[in-house]
Amino acid sequence: MKKREFIKYSSLLAGAMITGNTVSCINESMKKSNRINKRVSSLKLKYKPYELQLKHVFTLASGSRTTTPVVLTEMEYDGIKGYGEASMPPYLGESHETVLKFLSRVNMEQFNDPFLMEDILLYIDNISPGNYAAKASVDIALHDLVGKLVGKPWFRLWGLDPAKTPDTSFTIGIDTPEVVKQKVAEAEPYKVLKVKLGLGNDKEMIETIRTVSDKPICVDVNQGWKDKNYALEMSHWLKDKNIIFIEQPMPKNQVDDIAWLTQNSPLPVIADEAVQTIGDVLNLKGIYSGINIKLMKCGGMNAAYKMAQMAKAMDMKVMIGCMTETSCAISAAAQLSPLAHWADLDGNLLISNDCYDGIIISDGKITLNERPGIGIIEIKK
Ligand SMILES: [Mg+2]
Repeated sequence: MKKREFIKYSSLLAGAMITGNTVSCINESMKKSNRINKRVSSLKLKYKPYELQLKHVFTLASGSRTTTPVVLTEMEYDGIKGYGEASMPPYLGESHETVLKFLSRVNMEQFNDPFLMEDILLYIDNISPGNYAAKASVDIALHDLVGKLVGKPWFRLWGLDPAKTPDTSFTIGIDTPEVVKQKVAEAEPYKVLKVKLGLGNDKEMIETIRTVSDKPICVDVNQGWKDKNYALEMSHWLKDKNIIFIEQPMPKNQVDDIAWLTQNSPLPVIADEAVQTIGDVLNLKGIYSGINIKLMKCGGMNAAYKMAQMAKAMDMKVMIGCMTETSCAISAAAQLSPLAHWADLDGNLLISNDCYDGIIISDGKITLNERPGIGIIEIKK
């Protein structure tokens, strides 16, 4: 029996005791109510495309862009709405078109119990292979909805301590020394910087930052180094520059080279492009020191939670990352963050048209709120 039904029937029972009505009267009420529930309380999914505007041109080893397409979802049950989001950076192969096509195939109205999350998400996963951002948009909306029905945020439902959230890093893209210095100045509220390398000016980027900041830095190469000896040499050089770890130093298919680097590197080596969803985690033991979990890669909060627990059980480091996203998907990922050694949840800070109010960064640290679900409210669309 669902919580609100339990409350309803508990009060009916109390009423029956007072008035002396029989149990058959209550049964009749339950049957009638169930008939009504079946008619009005199936799950309903709505969605619409949205374009995120970036504050700065964003440059990675794979290219530059000024906007990111997303799709915003809304799942409704019994008058309560949960919100979700799919973010589709071009390099992952999903687009407005593919996500909208996937979502048009989703029939949520067949479900009238939102608490059957494993069944619902298995149905979503089985609609087609891939489409992980589209799947995440349904998963996040369902989590938000269920959290709201229960009246608790997800970090509470998972039993996680909000005091254990990590600092988030703030990303500095590849750019000219002047722009890099300006971005470092803008990152003043954050205690950890994340720097994109892999375009041939690696040392210049780090040295430029070190002229203006001594904050710890996470380095993300986005598969940009091809030679393992160069990667190891850079790892030693970076170790002396107060770098925390190196993310995806080489192409994910150079498995032996990466395993060799991880064995010899003085810095942890973290998988990003090499890890997508749950099935990938087992294969990475001994090749990487840890994994970067992102909701848009793995299909949402359910898979991300399982991946984090699996990695920790395998004695691997856990990082929670993001794409360029609104506060919707960022706040959803933040619910997991007490499980992570490191977090890179700055995607909402890089855009100028966020449409939700969610988790905040306070003194550089992810700060969860007690709003039920994923902790957001809609501000504009
Ligand atoms: Mg990365």
